[in-house]
Amino acid sequence: MDTPAAERLRLTEIFLSVQGEARAVGWPTVFVRLTGCPLRCQYCDTAYAFHGGEWWDIEAILDEVAKHGARHVCVTGGEPLAQKRCGVLLERLCEAGYEVSLETSGAIDIAGLDPRVSRIVDLKTPGSKEMHRNRLENIPLLTAHDQVKFVICDRADYDWARGMVAEHGLADRCDVLFSPSFGQVAPRELAEWILADRLPVRFQMQLHKALWGDEQGR
Ligand code: SF4
Repeated sequence: MDTPAAERLRLTEIFLSVQGEARAVGWPTVFVRLTGCPLRCQYCDTAYAFHGGEWWDIEAILDEVAKHGARHVCVTGGEPLAQKRCGVLLERLCEAGYEVSLETSGAIDIAGLDPRVSRIVDLKTPGSKEMHRNRLENIPLLTAHDQVKFVICDRADYDWARGMVAEHGLADRCDVLFSPSFGQVAPRELAEWILADRLPVRFQMQLHKALWGDEQGR
């Protein structure tokens, strides 16, 4: 008998790598990349996940994740929350005992997810060209277990992000990550802006890009 649709997700890839960003940076991590994203950020480096993919039973995803033998699992995309069953997958991964994180665009409701999941929520800057998609109702839902991430494309983005941190008291709510958009702002320049302003945010660079460049599945 076929698996009910409620137990299936469209998947682009599952692979083992080193977590390149956020709080779990450096940990061997299994990445589960779900297919599809309703956004089109100008700097997107995972456009290959917009289309295609294959339907996987959640059981099969869990089996594949287990084969890699890592403690950390990151559910990413695309925009993983664009698939309603993503919440079921996250819960099953938590039940299986993994340290589970979720990378999301910030455009979709994050309420109701398993509280064991560490949510890494983007706030899209003007430079992303998708700022209008930000779901600001997500902000009050963020806890110390979560992180909010700004990808900074230029000085105007930095000023906007700094204003958002202040306006919403983000640094009191969760970790705030500022990341330079690859090839658009010099990492050193961004670090110096943060230091000059004594901004209570974490500068980060994508470790996996330093290690493997833009290679897919890394
Ligand atoms: S939300 Fe993420 S996956 Fe979607 S277009 Fe933006 S960067 Fe790409």
